[in-house]
Amino acid sequence: HLLVDAVQSVNPDDPGISIMEIERLYGIPAERIVFLSRNENPYGPSPEVVRAVSRADLSRYPSQDEFLSAAAEYLGVSEDLVIAGAGLDGIIDSVSRLFLEKGRSAFIPVPTYTYYELAARLCGATPVLGRNLREIPKDTSLTFICSPNNPTGGLIDDELLREVLEGTDSMVFLDEAYAEFAGVGHAEWVERYENLIVGRTLSKAFGLAGIRIGYAVAPEWVAEQYNRAAPVFGISAPAIAGGVAALKDPHHMKSAVKRILAERERVAAHLRTHPSHANFLYVETVRESSALVRDLLKEGISVKDCSGIPGSDNHHIRVTIGTPEENDAFLEAYSMVE
Ligand code: PMP
Repeated sequence: HLLVDAVQSVNPDDPGISIMEIERLYGIPAERIVFLSRNENPYGPSPEVVRAVSRADLSRYPSQDEFLSAAAEYLGVSEDLVIAGAGLDGIIDSVSRLFLEKGRSAFIPVPTYTYYELAARLCGATPVLGRNLREIPKDTSLTFICSPNNPTGGLIDDELLREVLEGTDSMVFLDEAYAEFAGVGHAEWVERYENLIVGRTLSKAFGLAGIRIGYAVAPEWVAEQYNRAAPVFGISAPAIAGGVAALKDPHHMKSAVKRILAERERVAAHLRTHPSHANFLYVETVRESSALVRDLLKEGISVKDCSGIPGSDNHHIRVTIGTPEENDAFLEAYSMVE
């Protein structure tokens, strides 16, 4: 009774090779591996976060309240509209279960983040992969939009987003995991649109991918249902404590974003890339991307091969922007193997 078909038909390469596996398979010590395949932030969280995590009460079930109010304040929206989960993936999972089931469908403009398709399939729903947001089928229950988009780095423009929200009966999940790198977000739009949910995370700009906390702004009726349906104590006390501290110290995040954006422009100048609004580049390769990625791994450099992503092709890789040293190591290895 395992949902093997649902799981196996989605990008078999996700979530990609880990640092430990590279160490084991290629015999490269972990500290020499340049890991640019998961869009993490090389600068990590602020020291305030580390302090708050170490002071978290591990003996009691956690309360999310302080985190919801910190997130509401950070985004400038009402606290009643904020929901939280174990990473934005946790939220995507729970939101999918609220809107999708067998016989329903989710619209997914590709290429994009592959987890939407898996989440839809695991609900028994039909993922409809398309190219054009102006062609959302009539009976769609949930539409996923990723902006800045993973893996391309592109942004949806406000006019198109408005058109989608006003032209469809579908619930729209706008994934803004990378919003801080773009400097734009649509959280306040939720106050105007009853069919919009805007997802955010602390994994990217705030450097907390390991702690597993994400949040979203949702219409009140959705937030209410979500809080009944999602795991009650789904986020750990250290994650909540760290999340609160991170949102209250945006200065650390902003300085990391600034360094990453400067590096992104420097790295992009050496490559054939699409304009990016995130902390990664979607790079067009001359060689076949899977072979190229394998050769880079032998040099201890890990980047994402996009050939398994529906709507992409076998001549694109996605490269996370790391520290200047990491980026130099990537550029040097890339110029050798490409
Ligand atoms: N959405 C997008 C577009 C992402 O790239 C990621 C990270 N891979 C996520 C959601 C999930 O992030 P989190 O770590 O918060 O689960």
